[in-house]
Amino acid sequence: MSRFMDARLAALEPYVPGEQPRDRAFIKLNTNENPYPPSPEVLRAIDEAAVRDLRLYSDPTALELRKAIAERYGLRLDQVAVSNGSDEILAFAFQAFNGEKGVAFPKVSYGFYPVFANLFGLKARAVPLKDDFTIDVEAFLEPGENVVIANPNAPTGLALPLCDIERMLAAHPDDVVLVDEAYVDFGAESAVGLIDRYENLLVVQTFSKSRSLAGGRIGFALGSAAVINDLETVRNSFNPYNLGRLPILAGAAAMRDEAYFRACCDRIAATRDRTAAALKVLGCAVTDSRANFLFVNVPDLPGERVYARLREKGILVRWFDADTIRDWLRISVGTDEDMAALVKAVKEIIEEGMGA
Ligand SMILES: *Cc1c(COP(=O)(O)O)cnc(C)c1O
Repeated sequence: MSRFMDARLAALEPYVPGEQPRDRAFIKLNTNENPYPPSPEVLRAIDEAAVRDLRLYSDPTALELRKAIAERYGLRLDQVAVSNGSDEILAFAFQAFNGEKGVAFPKVSYGFYPVFANLFGLKARAVPLKDDFTIDVEAFLEPGENVVIANPNAPTGLALPLCDIERMLAAHPDDVVLVDEAYVDFGAESAVGLIDRYENLLVVQTFSKSRSLAGGRIGFALGSAAVINDLETVRNSFNPYNLGRLPILAGAAAMRDEAYFRACCDRIAATRDRTAAALKVLGCAVTDSRANFLFVNVPDLPGERVYARLREKGILVRWFDADTIRDWLRISVGTDEDMAALVKAVKEIIEEGMGA
């Protein structure tokens, strides 16, 4: 820290993204990117005229993108806000709604939630998961604090049924319940259908995973017009041009290609389930993931060691040095070929372990 930095921020522990190596060709299963390219419509949308128009500022209302999103989800335009990755809209929400009021989220969940809470100086309550890694719904029913839930949760991959989300919404009539649905398209129930009944619901989604646009940085929030308007107030007080021209075009094109999106998600879910079955045959414990990653425990071996051996074998996965999940790995679902290589490597590591 320089002597110029705000002392209140000196203790910040920033979010650490998964490794993005440049030096070596890894099979990259560590940041939940989509193994397939974006819809071919994206390439068509970004043409010479689009590049020429880059001299002009982007549309601060991102109208084309918000229209495509509103149509896809059967919502009105004033129920949609967009952002530079969903991380940005999560930050806007943490800032807009929490203030004096605290925020509760599961202790094992997306690593950005506690970082945002610290950045904005919020009172945060991290609620431990149950022993089976499920979210302790009962512990989120006391009104008077806002709630943030990733559904499916990361890195466990486990999804809550909609009835549990609805219990939280009903228990918190005067608090915001934010449901981060970064992975919902891979097989969980979305809360979008509840928006017209619960003014306090904010659903956050991203183009990074199910729409193959992690590098495009496009996220969005869906909710009541009142809550979305609050996010817009923060957004317009921070960066009204938060989405560039190219992401607006790319996002709208991807959102309109429903057939491509469905085919991609189905393919990834099928690869996920086949890989889970193969790992179980090897004796691994695997949670019932509804996301585009698996959460895996290799028996009798420390998670860090399996992570390191996989890395030596050219496969990057994510290991979290955190209580209760230290012996588990989060493994993104790649192509069938990627996953065959992963299963083979895990098998070798287990055999080495037995020989040692
Ligand atoms: C990946 C992810 C995000 C954010 O993704 P962006 O690339 O910023 O849109 C948000 N929440 C969860 C739970 C995620 O896993």
